[in-house]
Amino acid sequence: MVDCPYFITVEEAMAICCKTLPDVGTEDLPIWEATGRILAEDIASKVDDPPFDNSSMDGFACQFNPDATYPLTLTIVGIHAATGSNDPLTANTGEAVRIMTGAPMPPGTNAILPIERCQIEQDKVTLLEAPKPHFVRHQGENLRQGQITLKRGQHLTPSRIGLCATMGYAKVRVYRRLTVGIISTGDELKSPGEVLAHGEIYESNSYGLAGLVKWAGHTPVRFPSVADSMASLRAALDNASATCDVILTSGGVSMGEFDYVRRLMEEEGDLHFWRMKIRPGSPPLFGTWSSTPLFGLPGNPVSSHVVFRMLVAPYLRHAFGADGPKEWTVRAKLCDPVKSTKDCVTLRRVTLVSTDDGMMAHQPRHQGSGNIESLASAHGLTLLQPGQSGEVGAWIDVLVL
Ligand code: AMP
Ligand code: MG
Repeated sequence: MVDCPYFITVEEAMAICCKTLPDVGTEDLPIWEATGRILAEDIASKVDDPPFDNSSMDGFACQFNPDATYPLTLTIVGIHAATGSNDPLTANTGEAVRIMTGAPMPPGTNAILPIERCQIEQDKVTLLEAPKPHFVRHQGENLRQGQITLKRGQHLTPSRIGLCATMGYAKVRVYRRLTVGIISTGDELKSPGEVLAHGEIYESNSYGLAGLVKWAGHTPVRFPSVADSMASLRAALDNASATCDVILTSGGVSMGEFDYVRRLMEEEGDLHFWRMKIRPGSPPLFGTWSSTPLFGLPGNPVSSHVVFRMLVAPYLRHAFGADGPKEWTVRAKLCDPVKSTKDCVTLRRVTLVSTDDGMMAHQPRHQGSGNIESLASAHGLTLLQPGQSGEVGAWIDVLVL
């Protein structure tokens, strides 16, 4: 038995990992390079949005008169396009200004009639119905200057980048991406493209994990696969810890004779926990190697992916207080039975179908933790809690992949 917390819940594992966070730095980036990054500052608007009263329609601007009857004919005194260089036109009683969407409201006007409801004859316009005050977008109705709309830790989605621009920011301060080293272990591993000898398989975890690291907003560094020996693993970890903020290994954390990641971490590293109550994916460990945080992920491809989603991704978000990239869960009805266990969260791969009766979860195929195809063709993972019913018809939470 190891001398550290053993076979603990995901929450307990997270709490342990979060005591050992990587150092995080910041950098200033032009906003067009900041999509997907995490804000490192609160952002207060430099302007009112909109900065001036303007029209939300193409049409005519005029003074709203509650006593007027329609059709009503007015004199056209000019045109306002959506540009800052208009000579300010004023409209008096009986006058209207042709106006384009986004153009400033001419002084003296407070209502718009869309062009479709106007008849134009030379310098006269006939309004077929009353102009509408609600087609005017008022200064500051979306945002006030000084208002904080984005906060440190927010994930910069495309719409948030647009918001930064609207608020007058050409650049923003974001957290630097972490460098995450990925080391696969196993004598049987060959790189895709090479010829397999009997007993060998293609190494796939480092590619999948590199994709997950990118998805999480960080920079993956794939190291060459390491043979099952203490010496080669030690050298690989020394190398990775010298250059990376976080290390992910795959394989070698189970109870096997050649599970050297676990042995090395126990004997020469600093092991903070081993094994977690999820299925698949129970073997992981966490600790530090030369003070670099290290996740020892399982070798089975589905397991390593699942542990990343359940533990590594939340850990990386926590390191920045980040709200994204988001994990989504949906409530879904099981259409195939899933057996829960008494102590583990059961993470079966399911496909989801949206129906009038809600979301339906199907478990169409063989679910071995070595079967990466079952993950590649799935939409979600069942979050079946220990002892929870997984019979057909049960409503459960599903983590969207
Ligand atoms: P291990 O945890 O090292 O015993 O590995 C468990 C299973 O996952 C074994 O069948 C390994 O061959 C397989 N495996 C380990 N590492 C990888 C990898 N990087 N890519 C694909 N399969 C792997
Ligand atoms: Mg192995």
